Amino acid sequence: MYIQSIELSNYRNYRSLEMEFDRGTNILFGDNAQGKTNILESIYLSGTSRSHRTARDRELIRFGQEEAHIRTNVRKNDLSYCIDIHIRQAKSKGIAINGVPVKKASDLFGLLGIIFFSPEDLNIVKNGPVERRHFINAELSQIDRIYLSDLSNYNKALNQRNSLLKGILDHPELRETLDVWDGQLVSYGKRLIARRREFIADLIPIVREIHRKLSGGIEDLLLAYEPNIDDTFFEDELFRARDRDMRMGTTTVGPHRDDLKLSIASVDIRRFGSQGQQRTCALSLKLAEIQMMEAKRGEKPILLLDDVLSELDSNRQNYLLESINDIQTIISCTGLDEFVKNKFSVHRVYEISNGQ
Ligand code: ATP
Ligand code: MG
Repeated sequence: MYIQSIELSNYRNYRSLEMEFDRGTNILFGDNAQGKTNILESIYLSGTSRSHRTARDRELIRFGQEEAHIRTNVRKNDLSYCIDIHIRQAKSKGIAINGVPVKKASDLFGLLGIIFFSPEDLNIVKNGPVERRHFINAELSQIDRIYLSDLSNYNKALNQRNSLLKGILDHPELRETLDVWDGQLVSYGKRLIARRREFIADLIPIVREIHRKLSGGIEDLLLAYEPNIDDTFFEDELFRARDRDMRMGTTTVGPHRDDLKLSIASVDIRRFGSQGQQRTCALSLKLAEIQMMEAKRGEKPILLLDDVLSELDSNRQNYLLESINDIQTIISCTGLDEFVKNKFSVHRVYEISNGQ
């Protein structure tokens, strides 16, 4: 599977753009604020129906315009697919595959597997659990359609429960309605926990092996799922936490508070790792994502590297570029020095300047 071309109109800072991609390594280079990330974002959107950086679709429309359009031409198993995404100011976005509208964004599932890698991802170990949960969710949502819908239902129930909790102090009669949301939270939540446990068990040997190579065989990374609550106790604990949750106006128990533990020689790398250790772990996680996606989807994903090479030393750059040599990759960067210096093979190079 690979992307042959994209067409953008009134998308971010692009009035109109047509661009073809090679199946190998593609480079988008240019100064800051020219539109490199915008192109990567439009590709990510074509695969996942959402932007990696905003939940507000309207921001994607070129300033002063009414609607934006992204068309992505994909080649997969010797068949051609055309994905159209239509973003409108007033209405929700429209999606069509080969001209046939799809009802839900999740119907896009299965067509494109995409991994987005930005410098912020190098902080997933150092930063808080939010980023680590996002890593798990972004990956699982692309390999498991049921997970994607469970996650969305869980989040809806969680939002409803949280707003109810905030209102209960003034309206105690609302307390009984909590049962409804608790029931939903427990049923979707238990499935999320079970799926995450499985996913992380599969991820562990892959991350460990990559990390071993990246650290020159010296360090042994241990990865573990750190669930906020075990699925068997979720229902009871949620019930027990009710008074506290009402006082705090938020749900304090559940998989929305899960984490991923990373340690080397019994030292918790999230808190005590050196900067280099934390980044090597983060890079291992991202690279493992490629292998996981390939194993689960039966084909290699497309990799979008947003300005991430300049953040890595040449050892890690080499490792990264070697591990992706048979994957369609689109790389944004501000200069080509690294490619020239290290003689990395590149198939197509575009200079991006002011939305052109
Ligand atoms: P950097 O190297 O700094 O990451 P970049 O080339 O990746 O830069 P982008 O993030 O793609 O830059 O953004 C390019 C420009 O697009 C920015 O100047 C931004 O203000 C502009 N932009 C963002 N959203 C819109 C929009 N909805 N309409 C018009 N322009 C926009
Ligand atoms: Mg950018």
